[in-house]
Amino acid sequence: MRLPTYADVLLAAGRISGAAHRTPVMRSRTANAACGAEIFFKCENFQRMGAFKFRGAYNAIAALDEERKRAGVLAFSSGNHAQAIALSAQIQGVHAVIVMPEDAPAAKLAATRGYGGEVITYDRFRENREEISARIAAERGMSLIPPYDHPDVIAGQGTAASELFAEVGELDALYVCVGGGGLVSGCALAAGELSPGCAVYGVEPEAGNDAQQSLRSGAIVTIAVPHTIADGAQTTHLGQYTFPIMRERVRDILTVSDAQLVEAMKFFAQRMKIVVEPTGCLGAAAVFAAGRELAGQRVGVILSGGNVDLGAYGRLLAS
Ligand SMILES: *Cc1c(COP(=O)(O)O)cnc(C)c1O
Repeated sequence: MRLPTYADVLLAAGRISGAAHRTPVMRSRTANAACGAEIFFKCENFQRMGAFKFRGAYNAIAALDEERKRAGVLAFSSGNHAQAIALSAQIQGVHAVIVMPEDAPAAKLAATRGYGGEVITYDRFRENREEISARIAAERGMSLIPPYDHPDVIAGQGTAASELFAEVGELDALYVCVGGGGLVSGCALAAGELSPGCAVYGVEPEAGNDAQQSLRSGAIVTIAVPHTIADGAQTTHLGQYTFPIMRERVRDILTVSDAQLVEAMKFFAQRMKIVVEPTGCLGAAAVFAAGRELAGQRVGVILSGGNVDLGAYGRLLAS
């Protein structure tokens, strides 16, 4: 097992160039004034398919040799990773199978099919998606691409931070959402090279603080599926690749409540006119909670995605 390094982030940047959007970095005088800091929001809600996951998915597919590309790729997910794999595969002329629960929201099934993915559904209560995926991958010789625990996925996600440093220079701190830790691992690799003095913080929902427990105890802790509106961070454990990178390079893991996520979503909608999904608000909510503790610092925040169910989003904004 070889852990990815900054060299892999650089390779990824070359592969995704021209395919992924170089997303904007936005600022807010209101946020700056509240913290007495200079805050840079890297807006992955404007990435293709609406989240940073496009970076890792595209890179992992581009890194396959021609024979493996011909055999196709497979992912199991009902979230942003499914759409990221479907779209990245379509662009690269690779067949993608996405294994999704048959009761997944119709909009998500449709979006994944719309990006050209072959959706295979399963019964969440009677069947095991890992087993189904492993069987299909073996039968068809397909490459299984996991949502976070894969060197090329981690390296691809790191390009979100390498672009941020290239645009705004070195930072004192960087706040990144954490599910399985792919995004924060890649961003920490980029920070280590491009802004060595930058403290990288991972932020996860209070209800599911497995990463915090894992980093503090020194071993991967597995929890039950957490109840939180941050559906992109409902992971139960870190990965074999992400954990050692985070242990070495992430300063600490912070947590925020669902109520703090809703406040951040409202801030982005009202003040900055941008749609950020609950999971995408994790980093920003931790920055707003830190407030004046950040006075005088240059602070980066990754807004990881903007895919919302409009009904649920409307209800949260009106709450
Ligand atoms: C997947 C996802 C995350 C968590 O990313 P990891 O690499 O699993 O830590 C955060 N935000 C959004 C919008 C996501 O889709």
